Amino acid sequence: MKERVVIVGGGIMGLATAYHLARLGAENVTVLERRFAGYGATFRTGTGIRESFGDETNIWMMRESIKMWKALEEELGHPTEYRQTGYMFLLHTEEEMESFRRNVSLQNSLSVPSRIISPEEAKEIVPPLNIEDVLGAAYNPEDGKANPFLVLQGYKKASLKMGVKIHEYSPVEGIVERGGKRVVKTPRGEFEADILINAAGGWSKLIDRMVAVPSHVEPYKHQAIKTEALERGQINPMVVSFKHGGAYLTQDIADGGVIGGVALAEGPTFDMNPTLEYAIEVSRHFTWLIPALKYVHIVRQWAGFYATTPDKNPVIGEVAPGYYIISGFSGHGFMMSPMATKSLAELIVEGGTSAPLDFYDPHRFERGEFREAAIQMG
Ligand SMILES: Cc1cc2nc3c(=O)[nH]c(=O)nc-3n(C[C@H](O)[C@H](O)[C@H](O)COP(=O)(O)OP(=O)(O)OC[C@H]3O[C@@H](n4cnc5c(N)ncnc54)[C@H](O)[C@@H]3O)c2cc1C
Repeated sequence: MKERVVIVGGGIMGLATAYHLARLGAENVTVLERRFAGYGATFRTGTGIRESFGDETNIWMMRESIKMWKALEEELGHPTEYRQTGYMFLLHTEEEMESFRRNVSLQNSLSVPSRIISPEEAKEIVPPLNIEDVLGAAYNPEDGKANPFLVLQGYKKASLKMGVKIHEYSPVEGIVERGGKRVVKTPRGEFEADILINAAGGWSKLIDRMVAVPSHVEPYKHQAIKTEALERGQINPMVVSFKHGGAYLTQDIADGGVIGGVALAEGPTFDMNPTLEYAIEVSRHFTWLIPALKYVHIVRQWAGFYATTPDKNPVIGEVAPGYYIISGFSGHGFMMSPMATKSLAELIVEGGTSAPLDFYDPHRFERGEFREAAIQMG
């Protein structure tokens, strides 16, 4: 494919889309990144990867993505620290038990090996867990985590090797039409685009505005923390509790430090400053769930955006002739990046894909269609 493809945004969506386009034979792919690759939500994720969703399409996308996660390290020739250490949703009420029984049954029907476990089994899997108010848990051993820094570097290296051009510190400041083509303006020069892809995450609506199309993606501030290094193997799965602040936490593969957050969102906003209020909230909920964390220091706290659509599902596809978007992944873009980016690349190069992209149609909101909201958390 000879068309000039310009991708706005050097996060996981921009770089992995560039990688898949190049693999499918696109010869002229350029990524423009405002700061450095990974600067946005990608380097701020909570690392979680799960197929434990509550609806068929997201389970399908994640089941296929997990197949790709397993092969990614070898494919990119770069470490990813991907591990299948599971997700454990703690259930504290009969309503939660009922709702997760339904999720597990749907997941099982789609070959996902999740199951409901007792509080005692949950404690066997996570020994320091407080099970005082736990009625049960939904556990899927196939879920897991990976290191976003390594994964992004892997895509970057592999894309460069295939001839993708990546321009960092090149903010897109305007998009104009000239001679029937879009021209993308940056302080480092102009780039003509036959195909333009908006992969600008929380900033997507600014790019939509430059192309003069309606936008359905808003930035919401979410924060996360990492603790000092700890003995590995105590909290292997991602432990989630909606009752306790929407908390999610796990131990990092590299140094055993606990990484995670709570669901305290602010927005829409472009503010990315961490807050003391959040540090207090996260400490309160984490030390309830894992009391031993009372003796552990937080060494990093950061904020980033959940790029959020009205139904919390992404927008993937063509918005206007030659203008595509891949954005709005809320708290699950890192995990879904393999299949989401591959299917967009297939759509562009081959004109179709086996992935159910209709579900993520960017025009659905204009038609008044809202999907079932995807389960939210880091
Ligand atoms: C605290 C937190 C925890 C999370 N935890 C998880 C998790 O556990 N699992 C998971 O799957 N997901 C998680 N997520 C979500 C995940 O990080 C995102 O869905 C994913 O990284 C989105 O990738 P992206 O490439 O779309 O966006 P981004 O990584 O934000 O990339 C967009 C890029 O576009 C660039 N850009 C913006 N405007 C311009 C412009 N005008 N010109 C050029 N470049 C521009 C930005 O600088 C940025 O680098 C979390 C997010 C946050 C904030």
